Amino acid sequence: MKRIYLDHAATTAVRPEVVQAMLPYFSERFGNASTLYSYGQEAGQAMEEARNITARFIGAGKPQEVAFTSGGTEADNFALCGVAWANQKKGNHIITSSIEHHAVLNTCKFLEKMGFKVTYLPVDEYGSVDPQDVKKAITDKTVLISIMHANNEVGTIEPIAEISEIAKEKGIYFHTDAVQSLGHIPVNVDELQVDLLSASAHKLYGPKGVGMLYIRKGIRIEPFLHGGDQENRRRASTENVAGIVGFGKACELAATSMEEESVRLASLRDKLIKGIIEKIDFSQLNGHPTRRLPGNVNVSVKYVEGESMLLKLDSKGICASSGSACTSSILEPSHVLTAMGIPPDVAHSSLRFSLGRENIEEDVDYVLEVLPDIVKGLRLMSPLYQEKRG
Ligand code: PLP
Repeated sequence: MKRIYLDHAATTAVRPEVVQAMLPYFSERFGNASTLYSYGQEAGQAMEEARNITARFIGAGKPQEVAFTSGGTEADNFALCGVAWANQKKGNHIITSSIEHHAVLNTCKFLEKMGFKVTYLPVDEYGSVDPQDVKKAITDKTVLISIMHANNEVGTIEPIAEISEIAKEKGIYFHTDAVQSLGHIPVNVDELQVDLLSASAHKLYGPKGVGMLYIRKGIRIEPFLHGGDQENRRRASTENVAGIVGFGKACELAATSMEEESVRLASLRDKLIKGIIEKIDFSQLNGHPTRRLPGNVNVSVKYVEGESMLLKLDSKGICASSGSACTSSILEPSHVLTAMGIPPDVAHSSLRFSLGRENIEEDVDYVLEVLPDIVKGLRLMSPLYQEKRG
C-alpha cells in the first residue's frame, strides 16, 4: 500500500545529505569536542562550523549566541527557567500565551510552583495573540515574555515583531519558540527583535535529540544544566557532535530550498483546505486563513471523532494527527483549539495534516479522494449528524 506521510509538524525524515554529513562523527571522527588531541579538535571544528551555519541562518550577530541543546523542549526550559532564575531580583512575573507548546506551558507551571507568577494570554478565533494584550499584562515585575513564532497545531504565525517592539520599549526580555517555523518561513532574530529563540533540528529534516537556544549577547541567564564548561559554560554535557553537525547541514539546506519550497507547500496546503471544505459538509478550517505555516492544514469535520478518522486514514496509508491529546487515559480536546473558542466536540473532530518535502500533488488528491468517504462512513453512525442533516 502507498504510504503518505502528512505529519511533518510531528517530525521529519532526515535528509540523505544530513545523514552523510553526520556519519563520520559516529565513527572515524568520534572524538570528544572538549579534548585537545586531533580527534577532539576535528569534532570541535565541525561543531563550530555548524554553529556558524545555524547562527547565520537565524541572523545571529555572533556564533557564540547559539547554544546547542538536546532539542526544542530543553531550549524552552532553558530560556524560561534560565531567565527567571537569573532575574529574580528584578521581578517574578512571566507573560506567555495559552496556545504555547507544553514545553513552554509546563515549564511555566513548574515556575509557578517555585513562586513565579505567570499570565497566560488569550488568543482570538484564529489563534493570534493581540500585542495590546501583551502590553496590558506587563507589570513592573515582568522579567520575560514568551510567545511562540508559529503554532504547532493550527499553524498560525504570531505577530512577533510587534510584540517584541513592546517588550523592547519596556526593557523586558522576549523569547520565542521557533521550533515549527525555523526552516519553513524566514526566521531572523534581528527582524523579529527577539532576545532568545528556541529551535529543534528534527522539524527541518535534521536529526532528533538536538536543538538550540539563541541567546542574544548580554542577556542575563542562568545555565540550565550544571556540570562541565561546554557551550560557553551555559549548557554542560559532552556535545552531541554528530547531531549538531546534522543540525548545521539541515539549516544549510533549508537556507537554499526554503523560499521555493514554502511557495510549493502553500499551494498544496491551499488545495487541500479548499478540497476538504468543498467536499465535506460541516467542515471548517482552524487557524488563520492566510498568516499560517506553508505546510499546515487543520480542519474540524463536525460529528466525527478525529481519532476515528485518523485510524481510517491510517488504514489507507495516510499518516496525520488529531486535535486531541491523551492525558491520563482520557482524551482531552486540544488546549490550542479550546483557547481559540472552539467547542470541545468540534475540537475533538479535528485533523491536522502537515505537508513536507516528499509530498506531491497526488498525495493531496489521494486525501481528497479517500477522506470524504471515510467521513461519510463514520457519519452513518452519528445520530447527531443525521439529525443536523435533517
Ligand atoms: N515547541 C514546539 C512549538 C513544538 O512543536 C515542539 C515539538 O513538537 C517542541 C517545542 C519540542 O521540541 P522537541 O521535540 O525538539 O523537544
